[in-house]
Amino acid sequence: MKYGFGIDLGGTTVKLAYFDENGTMLDKWEIPTVTANAGSQILPDIAASVKDYLAKNNIAPESILGLGIGVPGPVDGKGVVNKCINLGWGVFNIAETLSSLTGFPVKAGNDANVAALGEYWKGGGAGCENMVFVTLGTGVGGGIVIGGNLLHGTHGSGAEIGHMVLNPKETVACNCGKYGCVEQYCSATGIARLAKNHLTATEAASALRAVDNVTAKDVFDAAKNGDAVAQEILNQFYDYMGQFLGSLCSAVDPEVVVLGGGVSKAGQVLIDGVSAYFHKYVFHAASGARFALASLFNDAGAYGAFKLALDAFGA
Ligand SMILES: [Zn+2]
Repeated sequence: MKYGFGIDLGGTTVKLAYFDENGTMLDKWEIPTVTANAGSQILPDIAASVKDYLAKNNIAPESILGLGIGVPGPVDGKGVVNKCINLGWGVFNIAETLSSLTGFPVKAGNDANVAALGEYWKGGGAGCENMVFVTLGTGVGGGIVIGGNLLHGTHGSGAEIGHMVLNPKETVACNCGKYGCVEQYCSATGIARLAKNHLTATEAASALRAVDNVTAKDVFDAAKNGDAVAQEILNQFYDYMGQFLGSLCSAVDPEVVVLGGGVSKAGQVLIDGVSAYFHKYVFHAASGARFALASLFNDAGAYGAFKLALDAFGA
């Protein structure tokens, strides 16, 4: 039996996990991400943590097949990172650098894509061939798996689905600098913005009027309690989601669309709401895609990162 590590590098913490080659997570822990000095300490810290773990547990280096790592920025197929703004990183080959620090082979990918691979392998997409993964959090991210392979793209920015344009008439800029991106309507922040705009546009009574700084969760909760205005806001969100996923699935034709991120905590009501509008916008032959909720949550990145290494270096 061979073993390896899956590493999910975030802006504040690094999540590390130790796996066997069947994909069983045997252990997991976290270390802080030290972003001082242009993030120069991050990879040495990760290497030290891995070596420390092997030494403490008397694990022979020969039993390690390799390391996989998900990085918060674009990474190409060779492991070249193209600027991780949160970490202070420029352009360099992370796979080569981490490999020389640890002595193990390393495979790297973008964090959202890697989380998609985790959900494909052991989570909401388990058992399928073609999958779209969408994270609805502060922003909108995701990943696309085709025939078991993750789409990295030519420049490492494959599946930046949060920045597909839904509304070219938008007057407020997205974080990326463009106008009318998916992320501006379909993220938790986007739902809060839809709520604010809708409450201003109508006089209708709503429990949401008593709430300061309405959140996405407030809107879902109020709708569940029968608040008509909250339901109108959700219908706007579902319509945007339907356009977004209808177009995406017309291109990809997946078996499953896995929904993750904070907004997915709404559960089945989210799937039911999105499905109704999805069928309005998707090409008929791709309309059989089913929706599922992500199931690995914060561990998706570690699972996917290890799967990258397993696919590259496993038997
Ligand atoms: Zn954008």
